Amino acid sequence: MNGIALADGSIHRINCDEKRAVIFDIDDTLVDTNYRTLHILQKAGKELHLNALIELEYPKVDFFCSVTVKNAGIKDPALLEKICGHFDPDPRKNTMYQSVWGKSFYSDPEELHFDHVMAGAPDFVNRIMKETDAKIIYVTGRSEEQQTQGTIEELAYYGFPGFNGDQSACASLVMKPQSYLGDDTSFKKAITIALQQTGVTILAAFDDSASNANMFRDIFPAKVLVVRPNRNVADTAKNRPGIEQITNYYLNATVDAKTGVRSVSSNEDQLTDMIQRAIRIDTDGSLI
Ligand SMILES: [Mg+2]
Repeated sequence: MNGIALADGSIHRINCDEKRAVIFDIDDTLVDTNYRTLHILQKAGKELHLNALIELEYPKVDFFCSVTVKNAGIKDPALLEKICGHFDPDPRKNTMYQSVWGKSFYSDPEELHFDHVMAGAPDFVNRIMKETDAKIIYVTGRSEEQQTQGTIEELAYYGFPGFNGDQSACASLVMKPQSYLGDDTSFKKAITIALQQTGVTILAAFDDSASNANMFRDIFPAKVLVVRPNRNVADTAKNRPGIEQITNYYLNATVDAKTGVRSVSSNEDQLTDMIQRAIRIDTDGSLI
């Protein structure tokens, strides 16, 4: 495996030297991690003798562990802290990674087997790579020390470029080293700026986190696509203007805020339009 140091992360599998790139986050951008959380919390339920967690079902799983555990009916603050911990920007006060959920979610490669690929994701990533002639750069906050092998196996299993045996693929993987103490957003910002400084033109970035999407929107020229996968594309409250949303790479879902009624529609035209715009982005981020 090749590897070069880049800012605070490392790049694995350099297969090419492209000057145009598309960035993809992995968790909840290419794979649905709610199934991982579901498995971890059901397992925790057995260990802690909590029926509410043993009986947890997928629709109650949220991006946030604490919301999920509350959805299951557990409200005791001490128990919530034990199971989920809490995030604090000060690493000394951040208990998320030591919690029952956090230890497994962030560090146990076995748990990656419970992720489900997001609808249409492998085909779309292959397609945007080929049609834009760009390199795919997976930039993830997953632990480089603990999850590199599991991540490579997962990307290979689902057929993502760079790991699916296609030798013409142009892709690399950037993971967060344990020595990096900042949050995912600052890590991804450092990596992106380092890429730009080496002359790489970013055509688009896909990331489900509002914080990351907003960071990309802040540092990219207006024509560069910033796409945020979101289960409910009508939910834009946290997004800066100019962030586009999709539910997955097959359809968009909209949830009516008042009635909770969910409607879905194909987003094929939207995805095609995105690729067409990405093809036309010039080195300065304007349209050709
Ligand atoms: Mg993510």
